[in-house]
Amino acid sequence: MRITCREMVARTDAHVDGDSPFVARLQNHVHLAICRDCRAHVDQVRQTKRLVAAAARRVPADEAMIVSLVRDSGWQDRQLGRSASSNRPKGDLP
Ligand SMILES: [Zn+2]
Repeated sequence: MRITCREMVARTDAHVDGDSPFVARLQNHVHLAICRDCRAHVDQVRQTKRLVAAAARRVPADEAMIVSLVRDSGWQDRQLGRSASSNRPKGDLP
């Protein structure tokens, strides 16, 4: 059974995520083999998902960097009334 472009668009997320049942996946591949517009749509969705996943992977690294900068600045030590210089490596700052 062939599917329409509208059906293909509705199935795109599941198709890209690999969550389509076997028969639906076959129908999707048949449709994509003959429909350039849906191939372009699926490629765009796939690329968008990759970019979002890559951006999401960067957030924890950025948070870790911020935590490291705050820790190295001594701000937290000052807030807690401790000596800020105790956490710094000796000799790298004036
Ligand atoms: Zn189509």
